[in-house]
Amino acid sequence: MRRETIAIHAGYVTDPTTKAVAVPIYQTAAYAFDSADHGAALFDLTVPGNIYCRLSNPTNDVLEQRLAALEGGVAALTTGSGMAAIQYAIQNLTEVGTNIVTYPQLYGATYTLFAHVFHRQGVEVRLAREDSPAAVAALIDANTRAVYCESVGNPAGNISDIAALAEVAHRHGVPLIVDNTVATPMLLRPIEHGADVVVHSMTKFIGGHGTTMGGAIIDAGRFDWSAHPEKFAMLTSPETAYHDVVFTEQFGAAAFVAHCRSVCLRNGGATLAPLSAFLLLQGLETLPLRIERHVSNARRVAAFLREDPRVAWVNYAGFPDNPYHALGLRYLDGNFCSLMTFGVKGGFDVGRRFFDALMLFKRLVNLGDAKSLATHPASTTHRQLNAAELARTGVSPEMIRLSIGIEHIDDIIADLDQALEVAAGVATVSRATGAVPPARASAA
Ligand code: PLP
Repeated sequence: MRRETIAIHAGYVTDPTTKAVAVPIYQTAAYAFDSADHGAALFDLTVPGNIYCRLSNPTNDVLEQRLAALEGGVAALTTGSGMAAIQYAIQNLTEVGTNIVTYPQLYGATYTLFAHVFHRQGVEVRLAREDSPAAVAALIDANTRAVYCESVGNPAGNISDIAALAEVAHRHGVPLIVDNTVATPMLLRPIEHGADVVVHSMTKFIGGHGTTMGGAIIDAGRFDWSAHPEKFAMLTSPETAYHDVVFTEQFGAAAFVAHCRSVCLRNGGATLAPLSAFLLLQGLETLPLRIERHVSNARRVAAFLREDPRVAWVNYAGFPDNPYHALGLRYLDGNFCSLMTFGVKGGFDVGRRFFDALMLFKRLVNLGDAKSLATHPASTTHRQLNAAELARTGVSPEMIRLSIGIEHIDDIIADLDQALEVAAGVATVSRATGAVPPARASAA
């Protein structure tokens, strides 16, 4: 099946008992055992089935199968948020004294987790000088357990050379973990380019309507953990955190996700609620259509901003002179994502006036909603970072990040136009709607 069909059908056939066509919401905390032996066999992982909703749920299971099929993996695990997925994917492979290697152009909370939280727990996160495979390779040593990147970085818009990073990681006997939130499997499937594990914030495009938190981990099922038992003993030797199960023996290609579920999720507890899984399944069904509109609207907005004399710069990989253009042609097939950053002429203060004058765009910290969204990273998502860290992560003080929604393109551009006019001091009243922009209303 093609991705458009997988997004609607994978993982579910009409329920044989109830004939329900939509995926039912299994709103239960626990599941009954047939007998003591049945319960024991479930706990031993020797028979498949549900034990307790923190570990698994039939609604979540449909979403997990659908995500695995969409990304081209063998198994998936859903979590209560994208950050939980990232945390568990790394916790699954690391212990005190080990490290992972990545680069700093990452989503703000991921950067903070990596740079300021993990090291307190004895796991070092090495940040490469720049987002090149060579800079990453230079930091890998015998204690490295994974290479990590975002396929399309938020908010810097950097596009990772996934195949080259996978080659570097594999040459050193470690897997590549890719956060594919911004691109989504509709635009890019990292596993096809060599990634071993894919993580998602489903809160964004997959849900697509700004209603539901969720995360996911997808296992490509290709990495040979048994070839490196000295590094991945948690998967290849008896796991004391789960009564000595050897995950590579019991689960074969799906060992990574099975261990993540049985150890990280079971003991960490950031489970996706079944109702959330249902809402995210609704989102997935229209993801292919929405992405088409997100991408075409973004192309028009980028062109509008670039031509506008009130705009100082626009960072959008769709421009041929953008440093990531060639990687975008290769990995996104020219369908550059709907996230972009830009700066207005006049710097921080004019930028803030622009931000406050937006009327259709929502001012918030989120992306991937059907609605058009605007964020000022330096004062919000990246606020915890000092000036040097902001520069390293690619966030300038005046930078505004836009997530272009699926409204009519003329209305999106009209809002940007009137906000630019207000910011430049030309208009005091919104040209788009005739209303007084919020900043001026509150000033009055
Ligand atoms: N990864 C990326 C690229 C993100 O943009 C975000 C959130 O913005 C996350 C992960 C974290 O996801 P969540 O907010 O669902 O925890």
